Amino acid sequence: MNTLRTTAICIPAFTLSCLFSACGQPATNAPAEKMKPCFQCGGAGTTNCTTASCVSGQMDCPAACIKLRKGKWEKRPNRPDPNETMQSITVGGKGFWVSSHHEGVYYVLDANRQLVMQDCPTCHGATRVQCKTCAGTGIIKCPICDGKKQVPASWSAFDNPKMKDRPSRFKLKGDREIIGRKVAVMGSRTRIRTETGDTDVDSADIISEERQPARK
Ligand SMILES: [Zn+2]
Ligand SMILES: [Zn+2]
Ligand SMILES: [Zn+2]
Repeated sequence: MNTLRTTAICIPAFTLSCLFSACGQPATNAPAEKMKPCFQCGGAGTTNCTTASCVSGQMDCPAACIKLRKGKWEKRPNRPDPNETMQSITVGGKGFWVSSHHEGVYYVLDANRQLVMQDCPTCHGATRVQCKTCAGTGIIKCPICDGKKQVPASWSAFDNPKMKDRPSRFKLKGDREIIGRKVAVMGSRTRIRTETGDTDVDSADIISEERQPARK
């Protein structure tokens, strides 16, 4: 019994130590980097939903129902209500003006190719549906720290591996390195925008500009 149990524990322990230390892992994984509270969520581990149209967990109805916050609304001549605006829409290849009085409806053509109002089958007139990203909560796991509340001390809003487009790593003569973005070249000088501000260097001193590994 005892022998069995020891064996059972021993195998996963070996696998774990293999993952975290030896087995040809890059050297950067070896010493654990100092951590700090996540700059994105302030250490909360969560952040407001990032879906552009999400408001308190409700996002824009994906159906083509009429939304006052979408499209171009304009006043039209000879309308009885001075507060009404209208929008030009295309249904079945035909153009129509529809009124701001009927938000949330869904227009279709009948057999005579006339415009008919319908209840939106997706949102039933609400113009919003539960957001898929946050499941209606308005809150998501922080995408920077993955909800862990902490990030490596070297990460910042200016440069971190979760970015799609990271600043470059400039290698300069004299064993210097700058993380930043090239913003201008003036004569023989190159201006690089860094986390702490712009810095001008001799273009001739730049040995290389390396793209840093970023989020796919
Ligand atoms: Zn809808
Ligand atoms: Zn959301
Ligand atoms: Zn975070």
